[in-house]
Amino acid sequence: MGSSAAIPTSSRNLSAQLLALGEKYFLIDCGEGTQMILRHLKIKINKIGHVFISHLHGDHFFGLIGLISTWHLIGRKTPLHVYGPPQLQEIIELQLNASLTLLSYPVVFHHTSIVGIQTIADAGNLIIKSFPLKHRVPTTGFIFEEKPLPRKIKRADSDRYGVPIYFMEKLRAGADFETADGEVIPNNLLTEDPPKPRSYAYCSDTAYYEPVAEHVKGVSVMYHEATFMNDKEVAASEKMHSTAAQAARIAKMAGAGKLIIGHFSARYDDVEALRNEAAVYFKNTVCAEDLETYIIENQDPEEVCCP
Ligand SMILES: [Zn+2]
Ligand SMILES: [Zn+2]
Repeated sequence: MGSSAAIPTSSRNLSAQLLALGEKYFLIDCGEGTQMILRHLKIKINKIGHVFISHLHGDHFFGLIGLISTWHLIGRKTPLHVYGPPQLQEIIELQLNASLTLLSYPVVFHHTSIVGIQTIADAGNLIIKSFPLKHRVPTTGFIFEEKPLPRKIKRADSDRYGVPIYFMEKLRAGADFETADGEVIPNNLLTEDPPKPRSYAYCSDTAYYEPVAEHVKGVSVMYHEATFMNDKEVAASEKMHSTAAQAARIAKMAGAGKLIIGHFSARYDDVEALRNEAAVYFKNTVCAEDLETYIIENQDPEEVCCP
């Protein structure tokens, strides 16, 4: 919903993304104006149960208090889980206290930490982890991983060996089957691998930082900030941001399936040049566009990585 860096432009809003899995919505960062965009997209905001804030620079969270307030005004009842640096809780509570607001719903704060990779949420079919980035204030990225799906039963083979219905659950979980004669049929003769779980990594503001690649190894789709072009590499490192090429090098190192770059400096009208610089290292790179939808799917890294 927002692909501009610190300052919004006429076509790019501040950082915010909405990840959808089935009926569940996960809001990732919430720059100023995010709730207007959610309205514009006709998103049912009550379906958002989890909000993830990468760090406390305004372009990533100044929209949160407004959204929290709107939920209160429309009488939300279901709990909201907010993940972010510990000070986020202080800031939000200060704002609510100053306006004597007693929310209609509970907000549950989960403090993120910049020490290593940490599992922070188990939400239905997803496991969500945070990992440290390298920025001027404590900052984490997030990775959303689908849980492994059960194995797929090969119906003709399971029928041939007479696997009873009650055993199917165990078969899907990977158990071998023993026939009435005591013959053990290995699970891989009766089932096949399920589709590989999908994953999405959000690497918000960060300088070039190789440990990120380790934390998101094999990710299906990766978003990585790309504030600057190559000619501003020194400035990028001073400001603890990345160039598009650096984002691509991390994607390549991680063996990602696809790279989406964003958080573009407002100086760039045409971001295609950033994409071109990234594509030198990682071919399957696209530029984030506001209001655009991206499908998370697995791709063969061999085919997408390197020109
Ligand atoms: Zn930012
Ligand atoms: Zn920042």
